[in-house]
Amino acid sequence: MGKEPQATAKAFRTFLVGLDDVIGVRGTEQLLRRGGLAQYIGNYPPSTEARAGYRLRDFSAVTQALFDVYGARGSKAILQRVGRAQASRGLEESASLVVVARAAMKLLPLHQRVQMVLESSGRALAEQVDVVVRVTRERDEFYIELEQCPYCIGWENSAPVCFSMIGFWHRVLQRATGGTETIEEVACCATGAKACRYRVTLNPEE
Ligand SMILES: [Zn+2]
Repeated sequence: MGKEPQATAKAFRTFLVGLDDVIGVRGTEQLLRRGGLAQYIGNYPPSTEARAGYRLRDFSAVTQALFDVYGARGSKAILQRVGRAQASRGLEESASLVVVARAAMKLLPLHQRVQMVLESSGRALAEQVDVVVRVTRERDEFYIELEQCPYCIGWENSAPVCFSMIGFWHRVLQRATGGTETIEEVACCATGAKACRYRVTLNPEE
């Protein structure tokens, strides 16, 4: 067994605050209690880079509790909003993302912009969370693979569950594509895959 995968305090805090914004503080409280994480009620992690004890399985425990309470369909909408908020915060805070957002504004071809934005966001994500991110391109589609995805680690489900990541990728791609791409989670660790895999289909620019 490897070491228990962790995230920064800030990453877990951003996730909880993102949930507060969508379902309210009471809603998040209910999820923390249900997920066995009552110690965080009224006591969110600080906004620091510390990685002591913030386990990836805590993200997944909260997400599982969300599915229990709101169902798959309700959770999908909630998590996509949470993921977008996480990416927005990342765009504000992460120097590498800001630089790329600016560079992406320049007149690079669409595919190059998308590749840059996905790779730099993957790096920014890996700075905060113990994930392994790979980006590949096949013709007009991009694939993003995440090993040790925090949202489904240790969870078994019959369908993919990582809607927060879909919201995240949509938000970071917005500046590169104008938000016209389609993103699907085509494989998920929750359904037994080795890595969560997202397919990004670009729609032609007008
Ligand atoms: Zn997944």
